Amino acid sequence: MIPANTISKKRDGHNLNRNEINLFFKNYIDGLVTDAQMSAMLMAIYFNGMNEDETFALVETMLYSGEILDFSNSQYYVADKHSTGGIGDKVSLILAPIMAAAGIKIPMIAGRGLGFTGGTIDKLESISGFETSPNLKTFQHWVEKNGYAIISQTDAICPADKKIYNLRDKTGTVPSIPLICGSIMSKKIAEGISGLALDIKIGNGTFMKNKKSAFELGDWMKKIGKEFNIKTDILYTDMNQPLGNFAGLSCEIEESISCLKGTGPNDLMSIIFELGSKLLLQAKIAKNYSSAISIQNKIIQSGEALMQFKNSIKSQGGAFENFQFQNQAKYETFVHKKESGIITEMKTEEIGWALVTLGCGITNDNKILDNTAGIEFYKKLGFETNEDEPIFRIFCSNKSKLEKVATMLSSTVVIGRHYKEKPLIYY
Ligand code: URA
Repeated sequence: MIPANTISKKRDGHNLNRNEINLFFKNYIDGLVTDAQMSAMLMAIYFNGMNEDETFALVETMLYSGEILDFSNSQYYVADKHSTGGIGDKVSLILAPIMAAAGIKIPMIAGRGLGFTGGTIDKLESISGFETSPNLKTFQHWVEKNGYAIISQTDAICPADKKIYNLRDKTGTVPSIPLICGSIMSKKIAEGISGLALDIKIGNGTFMKNKKSAFELGDWMKKIGKEFNIKTDILYTDMNQPLGNFAGLSCEIEESISCLKGTGPNDLMSIIFELGSKLLLQAKIAKNYSSAISIQNKIIQSGEALMQFKNSIKSQGGAFENFQFQNQAKYETFVHKKESGIITEMKTEEIGWALVTLGCGITNDNKILDNTAGIEFYKKLGFETNEDEPIFRIFCSNKSKLEKVATMLSSTVVIGRHYKEKPLIYY
């Protein structure tokens, strides 16, 4: 195979056959296709899309780049949840222990920050000692023992996604339906699951900016789920403002702990309960929607969800007990708007880039994450505000970044007179 020929074929709008896709991607993992050539291929896919055969071939190639877990002998329902990414989206951290306490096994392979969106793995690694790249046997053991475990793509599981995810992040090729399908579904199929609840985000703080593209992505995900025998339910949720009251690294772990203690914010808890209900119904643990909600409430109120979370963090090597002292930010500042009125718009993608600048994401200039960094949202869409009230609190441990990010954030909020509430969940 001559890589430049395969790239030109896709660039010119022709379809690639299964062999060409298998070989091109396999050669990339083996170092025979360079980063530059893969970047060109990703851009060609970004512009020209992929048909059904090509998309299935891409998922399959990414899947078989590593090993696949086998839970076929498990007496439990084995399932997972995944989100297409947003700002402040910490749902996985909370939902996994709740589902584990309800009796579903969750072997979750999650991602790092991608573009302007936050990564579950980056957030978890803010817990000192937390291990996200175990071998397969250890991963499976954690899942069996604690009901769930959350790890990253590794050299053993989905190595193709590990390598390509990084490159997409650097080359502006994230918002492509076939590439998102290949990335998410290869990870999910490799987990050996029977069921999946997908949270497809829609809005100005995610990759799918409108309902049409989100529903199209959802249809593809369902088709792939069917092809690979995974029962796939989809929830379409709003991402026109950050989810919850915090976005960043360790602050999202802290907010997750509040949710597990029963004091989480309503928007976040509503999405958790909706996704949880889908999994509990799939597993036949709940008979109907209202029993699914009550099962989840009971698990939180009884303290089981928090216990499950603590056990899992400890098994994965994380120091849970002194967590609140591990990542205290050295500096903070507040962002005000010099106007009074109602918040009518939050430019959520820009808030995401502000978080990356603050140290919550890797860039060419910034290779080290600042675990202490984050933003607290005092006010969100529809809130009244006046000039003496802060809208954001920004915190991190690098003083020079605070002022820059404060300036970036002050233009992310639009103040007006009227706000028409958007639904949190789209049907
Ligand atoms: N999450 C992933 O794991 N991959 C994507 O491409 C987007 C969101």
